[in-house]
Amino acid sequence: MFDFYAQFESITFNIAALFYFNMRKYFLTLSVLAFVILSFTMNSLRSTGAKRKFIDSANFNFKVKPSDNFYLYANGNWLQNNPIPASESRWGSFSEIQEFNYNALHSLLDEYSSKTNQQGSIEQKVADFYKSGMDSMSLEARSFQDIAPDIKRINSIVTKEDLINELCLQQLEGGNPVIGFYVDQDAKRSTEIAAQLWQAGIGMPNRDYYYKEDERTKKIRDAYRTYFITLFKLVGEQDPSLKYDVVFALEKKLAGACKSPVDLRDPESNYNKFSIADFTKQTSNLNWNSILGKFGIPTQDSIIVGQPKYYEEVNKQINETSINDWKTYLIWHSVKGSAPYLSAEFVNANFNYSGKALSGQKQMKPRWKRVVQSVDGGLGEALGELYVNKYFNAEAKTRMLGLVKNLQLTFAERITALEWMSQPTKAKAMNKLNSFMLKIGYPDKWRDYSSVKIVPNSYINNLREIGKFEYQRMIAKIGKPIDKTEWGMSPPTVNAYYNPGFNEIVFPAGILHFPFFDFDADDAINYGGIGAVIGHEMTHGFDDQGSQYDADGNLKTWWTDEDRKKFDALTQKVVKQYDNYTVLDSMHVNGSLTLGENIADLGGVSIAYAAFMKTPQGMGHVKLNGFTPEQRFFLSWAQIWRSNITDEAAALRINTDPHSPGVHRCNGPLTNFTPFYKAFNIKKGSPMWKPENERVKIW
Ligand SMILES: [Zn+2]
Repeated sequence: MFDFYAQFESITFNIAALFYFNMRKYFLTLSVLAFVILSFTMNSLRSTGAKRKFIDSANFNFKVKPSDNFYLYANGNWLQNNPIPASESRWGSFSEIQEFNYNALHSLLDEYSSKTNQQGSIEQKVADFYKSGMDSMSLEARSFQDIAPDIKRINSIVTKEDLINELCLQQLEGGNPVIGFYVDQDAKRSTEIAAQLWQAGIGMPNRDYYYKEDERTKKIRDAYRTYFITLFKLVGEQDPSLKYDVVFALEKKLAGACKSPVDLRDPESNYNKFSIADFTKQTSNLNWNSILGKFGIPTQDSIIVGQPKYYEEVNKQINETSINDWKTYLIWHSVKGSAPYLSAEFVNANFNYSGKALSGQKQMKPRWKRVVQSVDGGLGEALGELYVNKYFNAEAKTRMLGLVKNLQLTFAERITALEWMSQPTKAKAMNKLNSFMLKIGYPDKWRDYSSVKIVPNSYINNLREIGKFEYQRMIAKIGKPIDKTEWGMSPPTVNAYYNPGFNEIVFPAGILHFPFFDFDADDAINYGGIGAVIGHEMTHGFDDQGSQYDADGNLKTWWTDEDRKKFDALTQKVVKQYDNYTVLDSMHVNGSLTLGENIADLGGVSIAYAAFMKTPQGMGHVKLNGFTPEQRFFLSWAQIWRSNITDEAAALRINTDPHSPGVHRCNGPLTNFTPFYKAFNIKKGSPMWKPENERVKIW
């Protein structure tokens, strides 16, 4: 799915327990596990009667002109006055809402932890999961004893058959590091569920980290090596540095067969359906009939393989890499996956790599916050149910329905008026737009956790239980009708997404807060904030990837060749525009990797603006706090993007995140959007100015 905003802390959350979940996320975006947020901003504000300044000029930097850098003009003082806290790698509008929500979830979990909850209830489950993560005494005392049996079992592997059996066993607990197996909608038969494979195998963020020779990348590789050696010493393994060389060499070979993040954006080339017999012929050390049987899957005729080349390499390495080296590799992945949930030495080693080296975080987040994040990631629809009961205002849903309806009508008018698209393609685009499914707030039907056993005294075993549960829940979908009520984010998440398979746009309760949304704000604020988010998600249905899926969620061409060519020519201009943005010394935005998000940002702000123009405020000329309605709309857009970020996190995102940095998400679309020029009198020759014929308009 295409989400609005990527968060990465979840990269460290790839314990077997949640592997499958990450897998699906990697499938369509490199995104995140859930992030906690809250709705009581609004409730608490209303109850105290406090009035917010929706546009606060104290946040501006009046030394910067809107025409020089609109982002800095609108946010300069805010950026100055809101440095990144030591335990964070960035700080912005999203983080502020998130922080508030962390605190709310924290108080909810504290409340239930101090009560006697009915055994088996969701209250008992979230409270005991939370207790198991908070019990630092027990975690210290247990050190790595909960994973010692795994290490012992891996060490007993003798043959290739044992190796495959170990992978199968790990699969049942949520996932193994080598075979990226999952069960999901068949992209070309959207009413069916299919067994599928995606590339996996590596421990660093993507293939480039194994090959690039610049200083930043080398520093990360050094930190990865230190992480490995530290963990291996902690579990009492001999010759850790020699073992590192072996594991790095194997991961590098697997990385060499992996696709780059840009190549993963082409859904057609990542859809390769094989008969089980043919695929087994191609990868003869992997008997897929037998493997799928051990994975608990009923006999299949076919399998959809994202990246066949990766599986050819795995097949080759099963022959060429010694069993001893494979054992070392599996121990590494097993210990690394559990490290964030063990005793302090393990947690610190993980932080030094994932937090410090990869993200530039100076301090670890406090334990309660890490554990809240785990509970949201693992039992998100149980904690989410308690959360919405207490904090979600149903009125927000009604307000959102009105906004979505206005945006959808406006988008339809814009499609009708497009000059570059032919009538037959327009008719199909309209059909797709009118078929959007909409989800707001939280699921109608909550996930049934009744079979998950959660205890108050074993964090790792709880994660493992959840991993098993999620895996069984996933494979149980085979042969059943698609359940379109399912959600891909927990309710308190501060994010939104478009899912092309369901052709749906989804807005969790967590994002329905200021500066995105506020009941008391004027329309300019809500349209420039959540309105643009709604437009963004709608546009994903028509971006470089989403446009390849039809109204029924099938990966299928519905464009005339000529329209597709015109669309590609327009989007190439967007690629070039963003390729030119430098972020850190010589690092620049990757215009191809961020294309879908940039198209969505441009479409989102344009459609939201046109929809705003239909509101009484948009049609009028009344200034509020000295700003015209149009100006307030763009200032609202600018303030959702304010964000400080460490150099390390910026570099990580340039390499992995399909979203552009905040400053370019704010300014990039505006330089293409003529109403912005009018609102702030942008003159020829200024940095925010482009000649009219170079301003890109797609949707
Ligand atoms: Zn997006």
